[in-house]
Amino acid sequence: MPIRCEIVSQDRMVYQGEADIVVLPGTAGEMGILPHHAPLLTTLKYGIIRVRARGEEQIFTVAGGVAEVQPEIVTVLADAAENVEEIDVARAEAARKRAEEALAKVKPGDVDTLLALEAALRRSNLRIEAAKRFRAGKKPSYEE
Ligand code: ATP
Repeated sequence: MPIRCEIVSQDRMVYQGEADIVVLPGTAGEMGILPHHAPLLTTLKYGIIRVRARGEEQIFTVAGGVAEVQPEIVTVLADAAENVEEIDVARAEAARKRAEEALAKVKPGDVDTLLALEAALRRSNLRIEAAKRFRAGKKPSYEE
């Protein structure tokens, strides 16, 4: 009996389906969630979510958020998330360039802008790295 998995970002439903295991980048470490897992709530760091169903694995980038686990469902509320197969690398590279250029010009003491630009840089780097690593047909196993 699989576990249901829903990954929702601020602007859309990124994934919904059944899974045999969902691996989450919890802030306290990577967590493998199997069906009938005990309830828990965790924050997520920037990283990779793996959803395995019927021998197939789908990989998602997640730029922070929270996950709620119930025995029959894992719900991820992400600040931003995307399937690695749908990442537009040129867009992420343009976002990285914009963030780098703006960071070089940020006024001393403008902490809000600095933090926003650093977050944009981390999102774009995550997307670029994940697309490079996980689209090459290299799908690491859970034992890696
Ligand atoms: P950009 O400046 O290119 O919009 P961003 O990091 O500011 O990048 P977000 O605010 O994190 O974008 O995301 C807005 C929406 O666009 C989300 O649905 C996110 O999944 C999607 N998205 C952002 N960048 C990409 C990308 N490179 N490829 C595919 N979807 C993306």
